[in-house]
Amino acid sequence: MQHYQILIVGTGFGGLGMAIRLKQQGIENFRLIERAAEVGGTWRDNTYPGVACDVPSHLYSFSFIQNPNWSRVFPQGQEIQHYLIQACDDQHIREHIDFNTTLECATWQSEQKRWHIQTSKGQYSADFLITATGHLADERVPEIQGIEQFQGHIMHSARWQHDLELKGQRVAVIGSGASAVQLVPEVAKQAKQLTVFQRSAPYILPRPDRAYSTLEKQLFAKDPASMAQLRHEIFWGNEYNFAQRRNVSSQVERVKKNCLNFLAKQVPDPALRAKLTPNYQPGCKRLLLSNHYYPTFLEPHVHLEDAALASVSPHQVISENGNAYDVDVIIFATGFEAARPPYASKVLGKHGLSLEQQWQQGMQGYQSTAVHNFPNLFILNGPNTATGHNSALYFLEVQFDLILDALQFFKQENIQTFEADAQAEADYMADLHTLAQGSVWLSEGCKSWYLDPVSRKLTLIWPDYAHSFRDQNQYFKRSGYHYQYRQQQTVA
Ligand SMILES: Cc1cc2nc3c(=O)[nH]c(=O)nc-3n(C[C@H](O)[C@H](O)[C@H](O)COP(=O)(O)OP(=O)(O)OC[C@H]3O[C@@H](n4cnc5c(N)ncnc54)[C@H](O)[C@@H]3O)c2cc1C
Repeated sequence: MQHYQILIVGTGFGGLGMAIRLKQQGIENFRLIERAAEVGGTWRDNTYPGVACDVPSHLYSFSFIQNPNWSRVFPQGQEIQHYLIQACDDQHIREHIDFNTTLECATWQSEQKRWHIQTSKGQYSADFLITATGHLADERVPEIQGIEQFQGHIMHSARWQHDLELKGQRVAVIGSGASAVQLVPEVAKQAKQLTVFQRSAPYILPRPDRAYSTLEKQLFAKDPASMAQLRHEIFWGNEYNFAQRRNVSSQVERVKKNCLNFLAKQVPDPALRAKLTPNYQPGCKRLLLSNHYYPTFLEPHVHLEDAALASVSPHQVISENGNAYDVDVIIFATGFEAARPPYASKVLGKHGLSLEQQWQQGMQGYQSTAVHNFPNLFILNGPNTATGHNSALYFLEVQFDLILDALQFFKQENIQTFEADAQAEADYMADLHTLAQGSVWLSEGCKSWYLDPVSRKLTLIWPDYAHSFRDQNQYFKRSGYHYQYRQQQTVA
C-alpha cells in the first residue's frame, strides 16, 4: 500500500489547482487519483458542440497562472482544456497523478489516524484526504418510462459521441438549461428535424463575446498587471449582479426587463415568445448568455415542445402534453447529480457512516470544507460553494488558501488529526440558512438544482457575495475544530 501525506481525488480545476498550490508551498508528498485518462474534469468531459464558459477567460483561470493568450472574451471548452493540460505539465503535476483510478471507498482508520483508500487500481493510505470530484461531474439522466425500448441512439451532453452522425437525423434535445442553450443552435445546423423539450424556460441575456486582437494579447503579455486589473473589474462587475439574487426588486426588474427585451427583439412571434418566457424570478436558475439560442427556434425544422419528456417508445418521444415525435437520436441535456454527489456514499468517517448517510437532509460542512465525524478530510467544491453570479474558481482558490493555512498550522502545532466541531458546523449552517432567506432561490415558484431535493434547503450555492466567502473562509478557523496531537518521540 502506498502512503502519502495527502491524497487528492479528481484532476479538474479543484484537484489540479490544489496540487499546484501545495507544490508552490514546498509540499511534495501528495498523490492525485483520477478516474479518467486525462486531467480537466468538466472541460475534458463536456465536448458537445458549442461548449463554452459563461465567465470571461481572464477571470475563469487560476489567479496564479494567468494567460495572456486567451483567444476570446468567453473561452470555449477546448481552450480551457488546453489551459488545464498546460498548467498540469508546466507545473510538473502529471508525475503525481494516477490516471484511470477510481475512488471506490475511503475509510477513516481511527487507530492509525489515517485514511485508507480503496481504488479500482489498488490501495492507498493518506494522512489527509482531499476530495475534488466537482459538483457537475456525474451526469443525471431522469428515469423515463419506456427509455430502454428506444431503438435509436441516446447520449448525454457530457458524454458526447463524436462518431454519431447527426446530419439528416431527427433529434430530440431534452432540457433547456446551460448545456442545452449552447448545443441546440449547433445541433440545429446538422439535424433534419429538431425538437427541444423544455420543462421551464431559461432567462437569457446577450453574450458579449469577441476575439482578442493580437495587439491586446501582446499588451497582456508585456503588462501582466493589466490582466490582473481586468480580472478585478470582471469580478466586481459580477459582484454587483448579486443584489439581484437577493431579490432586491429594482434589480430583479432590471434583469427581467433586459432578458424580456432581448427575447422580444429576437423572437417576433408572440405565441413562440410566450412559450419562451420564464415563469419564475430571474436568477433562481443560472442566467444564461446566448446570441443564437432564440433565433434557432425561428428555423422551420426546429420545434419547441414546452413540456417535459414523459415517455419513450421504440421510435418516439412523448411529452407530458401528449405530443409524440418520431426521432432517431435523443440527447439528454439534463444536468448533473449536484446536490446528492456520488462521492458521498464512498467516504466513511470515524463511526463507519458515509457522508451520504450523515447528509440525509442535504450536504453540510464547516467553512464549506470540513465535516464533523470526518477527521482529516477537506472537500473542495462541496457544500455551499457553488455560485450563480461569479466564477466557481474564485471559491476554489479560497478553499486552497484555507487548506494551506490549516496544513501550516498543523505542522507548527504538531497536530496529527483535526475534526470540525459539530456545534460550530451547525452554527455555520444555521447562519447560511438565515442568509438564504429572502433570496431569489427560496422565492415562490423557484425550483432549481441548487436546492437539496429532500430538505429543500440551499445546500449547494453560497447564498451571499463571492467576496464574503473569502472574508469568512480564507483562513482555517482554529477554534471551530478539535485536535489530536502527535506523540512526542523521546530520545533515550
Ligand atoms: C458545461 C459546463 C459549463 C460550466 N460553465 C461554468 C461557468 O461558466 N462558470 C463557472 O464558474 N463554472 C462553470 N461550470 C462549473 C465547473 O464544473 C467548475 O467551474 C469547475 O470546472 C469545477 O472544477 P472541479 O475540479 O471542482 O470539478 P470537475 O471539473 O468536475 O472535476 C472533478 C474530477 O473528479 C474526477 N472524479 C469524480 N469522481 C471520481 C472518483 N470516484 N474517482 C476518481 N476521480 C473522480 C472526475 O473525473 C473529474 O476529473 C460549468 C460546468 C459545466 C459542466
